[in-house]
Amino acid sequence: MRTLRVGVRGTDVMEIQALLRKIGYNPGEIDGIYGPRTRDAVIAFQRDNNLVPDGIIGPQTYGILNILLRGYDIYYVQPGDTLWKIARNYYSTVKKITTANPEINPFNLQIGQRIVVPYGIDIVDTNIDYTYEIMERDIEGLRVRYPFIEVGVAGESVLGRKLYYIKLGQGPNQVFYNGAHHALEWITSPLLMKFTENFLKSYTNGKNIRGYDLESIWNNSSIYIMPMVNPDGVDLVLNGLTRDNPYYQELIEWNNGSTDFSRVWQANNKGVDLNHNYPAEWEQSREEARRLGILGPGPTRYGGPFPLSEPETEAVTQFVRDHNFRLVLAYHTQGEVIFWQFEDLQPPEARSIGEMFSRASGYRLAEIFGIGAYAGMKDWFIQEYRRPGYTVEAGLGRNPLPISQFDRIYNDNEEILLLASVV
Ligand SMILES: [Zn+2]
Repeated sequence: MRTLRVGVRGTDVMEIQALLRKIGYNPGEIDGIYGPRTRDAVIAFQRDNNLVPDGIIGPQTYGILNILLRGYDIYYVQPGDTLWKIARNYYSTVKKITTANPEINPFNLQIGQRIVVPYGIDIVDTNIDYTYEIMERDIEGLRVRYPFIEVGVAGESVLGRKLYYIKLGQGPNQVFYNGAHHALEWITSPLLMKFTENFLKSYTNGKNIRGYDLESIWNNSSIYIMPMVNPDGVDLVLNGLTRDNPYYQELIEWNNGSTDFSRVWQANNKGVDLNHNYPAEWEQSREEARRLGILGPGPTRYGGPFPLSEPETEAVTQFVRDHNFRLVLAYHTQGEVIFWQFEDLQPPEARSIGEMFSRASGYRLAEIFGIGAYAGMKDWFIQEYRRPGYTVEAGLGRNPLPISQFDRIYNDNEEILLLASVV
């Protein structure tokens, strides 16, 4: 962790600003710029926590902030404690504590017993640039709060980042949702993460979402969520290129000589567009790319030297082969449109399910032509399994969509995410 002070900029600053606001301070705009208002909020936070109020975030202040960022604390039961009392001290609830600690007996707390205490705040922030590091911490936070979920790693990216998945439910009807094949389209990661958190929160509280019975979904379906298929690309877009990247020189070359990846980069860390790397008419995709003058690694649309040349697509296809998915949703941005076909190999019900998604979201159901019509994740899934697979192009505007679009995107897509597990 680097030291944060006035003048520093970055996604780490943004994350701290969002946290300070969430716990009742006023850091000003959540813009990733450490200005005077952020400093003043940090000073107030430091005073309240008996830290040196210097307005600089060093190791000690980080120590406290980190506990809040992960969303829970570890507490050892003291004489006279009750769960209600502990919950109150942490702005939490008894329900949250018993969910995170299924083994404890609330009426028989043992002095010195170790318990996890989730804070009253949500884990997944939806007003910040959502990096791999933030996602990783959020996944850990969810795993601790909801210890009954399955969290796993399906493989690794070019740079060794983990391709996490989360499983919701334990029923036989398996479905698979993934996001951020394309680096600029990282807003699809917090979409899937926020859905996961909201699902878990409502499920543990015995509540429905939009009339969907979550307990019934839990018992009948298993929703596998891989929120970030291309973490290296997302990191390039949000945090920029760093000197320690083993492909430093190549990446600049592939990026047409520029060190700015924030507006153009869709590929993984080897300049391969992962959604053109699947073995579904891959040669056709290569022909289309050549027609557009794309012959090698670059920001977008290069399908790699051969199908599944990349560890990310290899991991996704292996993950699919290891399961029995009835349906797949691949999340992208933008266009508010749903693609549902591949070479007429999709099953007959693909259209009617697509129409239901369209009604639920207000998105248009459409056919696709040209380079986008081949070698994508959903194309491969339809080709291999002849089951329903969809590319959902969420949001509207120019990629990367700003996080300010999040609420609208979430609202439009929440029902698709529920519906896809029951159709
Ligand atoms: Zn895309």
